[in-house]
Amino acid sequence: TVKTRFAPSPTGFLHVGGARTALYSWLYAKHTGGEFVLRIEDTDLERSTQEAIDAIMEGMEWLGLNWDEGPYYQTKRFDRYNQLIDQLLAEDKAYKCYCPKDLLDEIREEQMAAGLKPRYDANHPRIIEANAAATADSPFVIRFRNPKEGSVVFDDHIRGRIEISNSELDDLIIRRTDGSPTYNFCVVVDDWDMEITHVVRGEDHINNTPRQINIYKALGAPVPEFAHCAMILGDDGAKLSKRHGAVSVMQYRDDGYLPEALLNYLVRLGWSHGDQEIFTQEEMINLFSLDDISKSASAFNTDKLRWLNNHYIKTSDPEYVAKHLQWHLDHQGIDTAGGPAVTEVIQLLAERSDTLVELAAQSRYFFEDFSAFDEAAAKKHLRPVAKEALALAKQKAEALDNWHTESLHQLIQQTCEELDVGMGKVGMPLRVAVTGQGQSPSVDAVMNLVGKARVIARIQMALD
Ligand code: GLU
Repeated sequence: TVKTRFAPSPTGFLHVGGARTALYSWLYAKHTGGEFVLRIEDTDLERSTQEAIDAIMEGMEWLGLNWDEGPYYQTKRFDRYNQLIDQLLAEDKAYKCYCPKDLLDEIREEQMAAGLKPRYDANHPRIIEANAAATADSPFVIRFRNPKEGSVVFDDHIRGRIEISNSELDDLIIRRTDGSPTYNFCVVVDDWDMEITHVVRGEDHINNTPRQINIYKALGAPVPEFAHCAMILGDDGAKLSKRHGAVSVMQYRDDGYLPEALLNYLVRLGWSHGDQEIFTQEEMINLFSLDDISKSASAFNTDKLRWLNNHYIKTSDPEYVAKHLQWHLDHQGIDTAGGPAVTEVIQLLAERSDTLVELAAQSRYFFEDFSAFDEAAAKKHLRPVAKEALALAKQKAEALDNWHTESLHQLIQQTCEELDVGMGKVGMPLRVAVTGQGQSPSVDAVMNLVGKARVIARIQMALD
């Protein structure tokens, strides 16, 4: 059965590129009825932090990318890596290299000066000399003995067939002087031990893949399949970075996006199924395939994300939207106790909200009283001539027993008829009185949710 993984290095938050890779891995596992593993690649002790581990998991949980196995931590598996490094040493598939770093740097410079590609050359006379001069307590690294002949070939699900001659690959360090194993070795051991069948990762790793394949072969491990995803660019064509605004998944939460909208956006960013734009989670899972991932880079487009977010705010179950809106209500200090049901407010405001930040901000007058009306709106609509309409509407509101949108609609109509004025002459003053501002959804529906006591008190405030 299929097993995929997401293997972030915990050196920062979960960014959209990582989230998309995780999503593709997760989708492929779900699509095939397989399993999805989370592995934390924390071997870089200096740059890895617990904070980043927490942030990555928080991002995945917020997106709903649940893992079936893990999290595994590479730092807890050093014994296993060392056991296999010893095995490779015993089999002469790896060797100790005592060549000091400054000599390697010198040789590298010579190679570059001679117009050669800098690479480790075990047969270089000065390297042979350095190794011969080493004593039992000289520091050393362990290098993998890469095959000298032939080439490595693999069929990437996205990039197609890739072939690299072994003459291009030098003997990779698999254990550093301090005894710590390196990324290219650990990743192979992990993917083997964790029985990963499909490695989905960023294109920035494609040069590592042939090296890793040689390590799989040396270990006698089965080689998984690979899918290397192209980069995500900003709207200006440069690699997506902080400069372009939000890149952290949790920043999108803060900016008022629903996880479903971001997932839908991310799945389309580099994958397509005809020209369909909107995918339920079930559709994504059913239709996803690694072979339909695009090999060209995709540009991030915030307008499209906003459009999708508005779609999900409008069409999702209000309970789902409410669950996510609550974070923003809390964040904006809006206490909903004693107000209408949040789900009903959502239904009124969804149409006009691209983000939950906007929706929360617009919902304030449903839950909280205010002490002033928007100045421009009041100047225009709360003029002395409006007072007659407001006073009559208030009188009718006080007498109204069955408070709902339809009866409030009639209340406004009757007020217009009795005063022989148009809808705007009653509706607009009421809107400003009840919401404090010049724009809102349909005023009868708004009055219904704001509630009788508050509506009457606010009209009174406008009359005072
Ligand atoms: N830890 C690597 C990274 O975060 C990913 C390695 C892999 O997926 O093979 O870039």
